[in-house]
Amino acid sequence: MTPAPMLAALGRDLAGIVGAAHVLSGDTPPYGEDASHDRVGLHGVADAVVRPADADEVRRVVAWCYEHEVPIVPRGGGSGLAGGAVPVAGGVVVAMERMTAVRSFDAPLWRAEIEAGLSTADVIRLGRESGLLFPPNPGAVEQSQIGGNVATNAGGPRAFKYGVTGNWVTGLEVVVAPGELIRVGGARRKDVAGYDLRGLFVGSEGTLGIVTSVWLRFVPAPAASLRLATFYEGAAAGCAAIERLVGNGVVPAALEYADEGAVEIGRPSFPGGLAPAARFAVLIELDGSQADVAAQRAETLEALADGAVATVVAADAREGAELWRWRDGLSSAVTAVRGGRLGEDIVVPLDRLEDVIAEVVRIAARHGLDACSWGHAGDGNVHANFLVGAHDVQAQRAAGAAAVELCDYAVSIGGSISGEHGIGWLKRGRLERHQGPVVAGIHAAIKAALDPKNLLNPGKKT
Ligand SMILES: Cc1cc2nc3c(=O)[nH]c(=O)nc-3n(C[C@H](O)[C@H](O)[C@H](O)COP(=O)(O)OP(=O)(O)OC[C@H]3O[C@@H](n4cnc5c(N)ncnc54)[C@H](O)[C@@H]3O)c2cc1C
Repeated sequence: MTPAPMLAALGRDLAGIVGAAHVLSGDTPPYGEDASHDRVGLHGVADAVVRPADADEVRRVVAWCYEHEVPIVPRGGGSGLAGGAVPVAGGVVVAMERMTAVRSFDAPLWRAEIEAGLSTADVIRLGRESGLLFPPNPGAVEQSQIGGNVATNAGGPRAFKYGVTGNWVTGLEVVVAPGELIRVGGARRKDVAGYDLRGLFVGSEGTLGIVTSVWLRFVPAPAASLRLATFYEGAAAGCAAIERLVGNGVVPAALEYADEGAVEIGRPSFPGGLAPAARFAVLIELDGSQADVAAQRAETLEALADGAVATVVAADAREGAELWRWRDGLSSAVTAVRGGRLGEDIVVPLDRLEDVIAEVVRIAARHGLDACSWGHAGDGNVHANFLVGAHDVQAQRAAGAAAVELCDYAVSIGGSISGEHGIGWLKRGRLERHQGPVVAGIHAAIKAALDPKNLLNPGKKT
């Protein structure tokens, strides 16, 4: 923790940069937590929270912190699930919520430059109002910010067809140590001059710099979309159907699954009810022109038919939204069973999806726990959930051990320890374990080159 005299200077000097009204006490909610709090109770107290109005104020805050050796914790919407925005070791939280300007928007050229603090939902709305689609839609779109999505390289259901956030970023404005404002990429759609620094900052979880604005690309919005679900007796038939669909060349916008445990917990709330034999769900979103969607619908239903025990095709947008609400509601339904859950985010090659779904349950059982999973099936991205009592410390410890074992398993079959939530604080220290000393050493060298005093979100993404 920063000594008291330093704290007084910190408050005074930072107020001189961002204005006294925008320097908050370090224990102001919600800045001590992110969305991982509900699962693991992680909480931190900052020395101060600052809310800069523009990139130059961010630059001056970083310069001050760097000169005075005070840690800096960039914060977007706090919807992250890895503890990345939590000030676990004090320091100054730099909250980006006032930086919401759309610096430029060229609808005919499908591009915009947007400040980092604009919410994902507002970015999506901006495009939609001009007939454009910004595809990445990680779950908490009203809460998360575009800068946070860039910093975690967030994915979400549509990543199967459209890729993750980084695929939609053509340039970044970033404040780097010891307090410089740089631009990498821009409105241009291609750029191979030099190393891919844009790619380096995407997904860097606030450990290499603070993103202040983002050049994004959009695409013309598809004219039509359709949501449907098919159900199977188990993961074997469901995963076979998923592979058949992909093998047949159908490219759904979203290709999701929920395993037997999750379907069982969600069964009472499934719109219109579910047949008892329906125990594994495949959820699909198709999009394109009216003709494309009609053709994809036929191909999809054909590919998914073998082994299906129930099929639900949404008749209209309202029914499609209901289907998705059911899928999105699984997380709170599963939490409600015991009062808590430890969520894991891993990714495996698509042909190992069935294996990992089974292994989640097996590992949990070995630790005396129940578990279920759902996720972005097309990407092999599994969100495993170990059910624990909210105050059951023993079960929580067991879930932590089960999660590490699951990550080991994912890596052993060619997967990775995070598909989209990042390493943050909760998986700290695991890069070397899972990627080996050489790769971990390259990470450390990059960090040392960009943040020689280790002040940018220290301890995260290691
Ligand atoms: C209900 C729910 C569903 C979710 N579903 C998905 C999903 O489907 N797919 C998915 O990928 N994620 C999902 N998430 C996780 C989360 O929404 C994403 O990680 C999100 O993009 C984080 O954005 P944020 O603005 O909230 O960032 P924060 O939580 O504030 O920060 C996340 C990390 O980014 C850093 N950071 C934030 N802003 C900046 C910046 N401007 N410059 C530099 N670093 C910065 C922080 O230091 C931290 O390390 C979900 C979360 C919830 C609560």
